Amino acid sequence: TIGMIAMDASGNLSGSCTTSGMGFKMRGRLGDSPIIGAGLFVDNEVGAATATGMGEEVIRVCGTHLVVEFMRQGLSPEAACKKAVERIVKKNPARAKANQVGFIAINKQGQYGGYCLQEGFSYAVCYADDKNFLVKGKHYF
Ligand code: ASP
Repeated sequence: TIGMIAMDASGNLSGSCTTSGMGFKMRGRLGDSPIIGAGLFVDNEVGAATATGMGEEVIRVCGTHLVVEFMRQGLSPEAACKKAVERIVKKNPARAKANQVGFIAINKQGQYGGYCLQEGFSYAVCYADDKNFLVKGKHYF
């Protein structure tokens, strides 16, 4: 998945995501990316989040909606992403550890973060006034 979440100069949030799905997927498999609240969720009052990895795991917990709801409760974007991943792990630790799942999020204050169970997860950050991308991440359980 390529997921993007953004804040404009007026503080409005937006997001998008795209995916090729999974290798060797079953015919007709949908994945999480086209499902609002699973692969992508934006609430302009609170924050935005997008997901990558095994879509079935993300769908089971309405992953990005969960991340945004955790931010609504006051968690930082990174803490919200981590808590959503932990929810997935709690449901089935063995399955979760076998499948990559990661989230990135931004809140209404412009703070951002991400979390993934597996090593090597990173995401890029770009500011409008900066042509360079910062690479952040490498969070693992
Ligand atoms: N989330 C996607 C899916 O399950 C896979 C990906 O990360 O590209 O379809």
